[in-house]
Amino acid sequence: MSRNAVNIVWFKRDLRVEDHEPLARAAADGPVLGLFIYEPELIHAPEFDSSHLVFINQSLAELETALGARGGRLILRHGEAAEVLDRLACEIPVKALWSHAETGGMVTYRRDLRVASWASRRGIRWHEFRQDGVIRRLKNRDGWAARWRHRMSAPSIVPPERIISPAFVCSLPILPCERLGLERSKKTDAQPGGSTHAQETLQTFLHRRGVNYRAAMSSPLTAWEECSRLSPYLAWGCISLRTVYQATVSRSAELRSDERVGNAPDKRWFGSLSSFGARLRWHCHFMQKLEDEPRIEFENVSRAFDGLREKFSRTEHAAERFSAWREGRTGYPMVDACMRAVCATGWLNFRMRAMLASFAAYHLWLHWREPAIYLARHFLDFEPGIHFSQFQMQSGTTGINTIRIYSPAKQVSDQDPCGLFIRRWLPELANVPDSWLAEPHRMPPEIQKRSGCVIGKDYPAPIVEHTSAVAAARHRLTLVRREPLAKEESRRVLNKHGSRKRPDRRRRIG
Ligand SMILES: Cc1cc2nc3c(=O)[nH]c(=O)nc-3n(C[C@H](O)[C@H](O)[C@H](O)COP(=O)(O)OP(=O)(O)OC[C@H]3O[C@@H](n4cnc5c(N)ncnc54)[C@H](O)[C@@H]3O)c2cc1C
Repeated sequence: MSRNAVNIVWFKRDLRVEDHEPLARAAADGPVLGLFIYEPELIHAPEFDSSHLVFINQSLAELETALGARGGRLILRHGEAAEVLDRLACEIPVKALWSHAETGGMVTYRRDLRVASWASRRGIRWHEFRQDGVIRRLKNRDGWAARWRHRMSAPSIVPPERIISPAFVCSLPILPCERLGLERSKKTDAQPGGSTHAQETLQTFLHRRGVNYRAAMSSPLTAWEECSRLSPYLAWGCISLRTVYQATVSRSAELRSDERVGNAPDKRWFGSLSSFGARLRWHCHFMQKLEDEPRIEFENVSRAFDGLREKFSRTEHAAERFSAWREGRTGYPMVDACMRAVCATGWLNFRMRAMLASFAAYHLWLHWREPAIYLARHFLDFEPGIHFSQFQMQSGTTGINTIRIYSPAKQVSDQDPCGLFIRRWLPELANVPDSWLAEPHRMPPEIQKRSGCVIGKDYPAPIVEHTSAVAAARHRLTLVRREPLAKEESRRVLNKHGSRKRPDRRRRIG
């Protein structure tokens, strides 16, 4: 091995220098070259959107600067990962490959197999590190939460002060959508990428925006400002989960110490930070499911539900329903407003995501896979492990969760009684009186005319009738859940993926 051999640090969904173990270890071992690969297989996958690329590019620009400030370099290449690495290894002597392990979908799993086989052919060692609380080759879930907490509490990794990088290796510029054959992003109001925005978002949440988080998270009116909004930064690794966890613990300790010295903080902080801390654990709890059972990207968690919706999902009738759902014209204002909001911004709060998924699965009786892919593309924070597990949970195919069917009309009266959110995203309902907003199709014809919203002309009639659609879905699911296979599967699923934490043992954060 040449004395000038270089360590390649391969950045993927970890676009930061802080708390980045592969970077720190590689830099301690010798010269380092940062590498990001625009992978056609990922960029042209159905779950990828140009808004993801915009976010990645903003994050790459900042990463380039952060590495440059330490004397290091980030090079950008385009192509299949193993081929790109092979070409690079022909240009410079490569000492080792360093990266974080990824809990991704089948495409990244297969790509990793190809990279591993390339590395072994070339005799290059590939060092992979964990970047969150997900555990590879986990035997079972016993003690998982304690291991998660231990990992999150370990000191975070200090970035190297100096990096030595070879100057002569060429790099592509940051590639915009057009250069990669993607349409320009249509999202007008998406969050900007990069570690600086991630840090700012964390600080404003922990010190100002998060005080009423527990109460505000369910309504799309308040959630936009009062949820953390950290999800895209966590999904693309602009900040580590450990950094967020430790900042939350410190903030909690600071508030408790204020309380002890009589500097009474707003009491809502305690409940809010505790709820937030639990969700940081859920982040990994859900990803662990995909890590342990990768087939759930495509197949039902519980095999007892196989065949339940597949046949109907292939019909023309289902195709029409799917189009109406995608385009925000189901005739249910909360569903349509949420869909239009997510398409414009790339974000939606948990409850509204759950309602969209449950509406597709129960009211429209669609198989979860196509709706999940559609929303993966529109969520700026698409994280395969969370996304597919959550979609299945909201579609009733896990076999271990209570069937939760949301009434879109009730969500209007509970979460947006004055219709501020709905009117913002559905201008055709601007003049519909508040009392008719949840179910505008029930408006008498003269009110429809007066408010400029004639049902069937200005706004669609409901695509399905709520009560009968829900009753039919519940009945079909109940029949399956009674079968011996369903019971057997739910025992297996619970054993494999179920949280071992009992409610009385839940801890407060800090
Ligand atoms: C159908 C469906 C699909 C989803 N797909 C994704 C996805 O692709 N990527 C994603 O990050 N989240 C997903 N979620 C979970 C959740 O809705 C988002 O994490 C949350 O809305 C992001 O906003 P926030 O960062 O302000 O969250 P906060 O409420 O501020 O939570 C902080 C962090 O905790 C984690 N978190 C919060 N809620 C959950 C949850 N229910 N399950 C797992 N982790 C959670 C996220 O990392 C989040 O950023 C999905 C939920 C549903 C119902």
